[in-house]
Amino acid sequence: MYDENNIFAKILKKEIPCDKVHEDECSLFFNDINPQAKIHVLGIPKFPCTTFSEFLTKAENSNIISFFKSIQIVINKLNIENSGYRLITNSGKDGGQEVPHFHIHILAGEKIGRLR
Ligand code: AMP
Repeated sequence: MYDENNIFAKILKKEIPCDKVHEDECSLFFNDINPQAKIHVLGIPKFPCTTFSEFLTKAENSNIISFFKSIQIVINKLNIENSGYRLITNSGKDGGQEVPHFHIHILAGEKIGRLR
């Protein structure tokens, strides 16, 4: 069950601020408050969903396509296509997800190390 009061839902409702990088009809991208790389941007669909799987299952195809195309728009804005980047989504307990609104981490700006 989606928690309407999770921190990213509050950001979408403009109840708390974010350091916005990009916004369009279907998505919002903002800088992570606790960056793990020189560039650490989070991308969230405006569609209320907890995980990647829920987004893929419940959102309209047009919404899903729009969100993934927006990630590329942000990659272009950040000018990281040539230098490289890592996309991560954490899902559930084993994935280490802390905020229960599906999000993509875009990590870049330096060599991102192995996970372990
Ligand atoms: P995850 O572990 O995948 O759920 O990642 C949640 C991410 O959200 C972490 O990298 C946090 O640093 C980040 N975060 C939590 N609260 C905020 C906030 N208010 N603004 C920006 N990033 C946040």
